[in-house]
This record gives sequence, structure tokens and C-alpha cells, in this order.
Amino acid sequence: MVTGGSRGIGRACCLQLAEMGYNVIINYARNQEAAEETRRMVEDKGVTAELMPFDVADGAAADAAVTAWQEQHPDDYIAILVNNAGIRQDTMLVFMEDRQWHDVLNTTLNGFFYITRRVVKDMLTKRWGRIVNVVSLSGIKGLPGQVNYSAAKAAIIGATKALAQEVGPRKVTVNAVAPGFIATDMTKDLDEAMLKKQIPCGRFGKPEEVAALVGFLASDNAAYINGEVVSINGGLYT
Ligand code: NAP
Repeated sequence: MVTGGSRGIGRACCLQLAEMGYNVIINYARNQEAAEETRRMVEDKGVTAELMPFDVADGAAADAAVTAWQEQHPDDYIAILVNNAGIRQDTMLVFMEDRQWHDVLNTTLNGFFYITRRVVKDMLTKRWGRIVNVVSLSGIKGLPGQVNYSAAKAAIIGATKALAQEVGPRKVTVNAVAPGFIATDMTKDLDEAMLKKQIPCGRFGKPEEVAALVGFLASDNAAYINGEVVSINGGLYT
């Protein structure tokens, strides 16, 4: 299951997991058209794809969606969870409105909490699972204009490390990937020509490059990596 799987990094993660032979559940909030497109692309890889729209910031909706899915698939469970849904609403802290703080925290941080709490239960019972949290360079270094977003991502990094220790004994691993600038809808309003001068690799990253790392952390080969935060930023910050 990939939250925010309709577009950008989430879509690339859906395709990567499909490539690895997994059936994919695509969560999204609003963009039905993009989600349908992701579904078609996943199915083209020969696995099944299901759409599961809900707002990750709504805990009851997340619980209800997963419970309904479970009732329809009594012999299956969600073995891999990619917590990717996130939003940014940038402004300097002095100008930040309550809404901008709470919206970003509700989706980006509380979304991680609600869906992970629901899904990890079955991973523990089945004694195998992978949770990969898409965080950000902002959560490691902090970026000006992103106090809300940096706080949310840094909180998920702490949660990743704590949860990894809770669930590791049951062969469930929890890791995070921390992208720098990746070319998606989220970054399309940024000045790439100016920003890429600061990036040693000289360009924005591609969603597929992040997805390849997510795929590795979700694989059996990564069974001994737990509680880590792996940066993927072209050398922008080490
Ligand atoms: P994006 O292109 O803006 O896509 C965001 C995705 O999240 C969409 O699928 C969207 O669904 C979904 N989403 C947003 N709010 C949601 C909610 N409340 N409930 C469920 N789904 C929701 O973003 P992206 O660039 O791919 O970013 C994906 C993740 O990577 C985010 O966590 C972001 O913070 C992180 N990240 C991105 C970059 C970057 O440079 N792009 C860098 C570091 C970290 P709809 O299609 O329905 O709107």
C-alpha cells in the first residue's frame, strides 16, 4: 500500500513495487484521474491494483478503508506500507497562520500515525512487514519557510526510529527515505535552474530514483536495515 500513490513519488513507488511482483493498493485524496492512470500503469506490469481513496489526516476514514479491504480479502494482509502522502504550505514562521501549521501537520504527520497504527497490527500478527516513510531533507536539516513541514518530517524520523525498536522482533522493519529536490508537482513552482546550482549532481532527482530506494528497503535484501534514514539528494546535504 502506498499513500499518496496517485502522483509523483508515490506513483513511482507503486510502479516499483509492481515491478517487484507485489499487488498494489493506491491511496490518494482527490485526484481520481491521476489515480486511475497509476492503476492502469500498475496493471500493465501484470499485478493487480486497487484504488483506496481516503484522507490520511482522517483517522476514522483510514481505519474504515483498511477494515473494508480486509473484509474483502480475508486471506491477505498489507505487508508493505509506504507512507508517502504529504503536503507543504510554505511561509516564514512569523507569517504562518494556524491553518498552515495544522494542515501540514495533520496530513504529513498525523497521516503517518493513523494508517501505520492500523496496518502494523496485521504485520505483527503475520510476523513480516516493511514500513517505509518518505520524509525529507527538510526534516534533517530544516529549511527556511518550512517550519511546519520540517517539524512534521523530523517527527516522522523520530517515530521511525522508535517504532523500528518496537516491531523489529517480529521481522517488521521501519525505515525512512529523505529526498532532496525531486521533480514532481510538489516542486514545479520552484526555480530549478537556480536551485540545481547548489546540488552536486547538478539536477533535481527523479521520482523513480526515490522509488528504487523504497523498493530496496521493502525487499528481503534489506531485512537487517531497521530504524534508518537514508538520504537521496544528489549530494546536496550529507
Ligand atoms: P505530489 O506530487 O504533490 O503528490 C502528493 C501525493 O499525496 C498525491 O498522490 C496526493 O493525492 C497525495 N495526498 C496529499 N494529501 C493527501 C491526503 N490528505 N490523503 C491522502 N493522500 C494525499 O508530491 P511528491 O513530490 O510526490 O511528494 C511525495 C512525498 O515525498 C511527500 O511526503 C513529500 O513531502 C515528500 N518529498 C517530496 C520531495 C520533492 O522534492 N518532491 C522532497 C522531499 C520529500 P491526490 O493526487 O489525490 O492529490
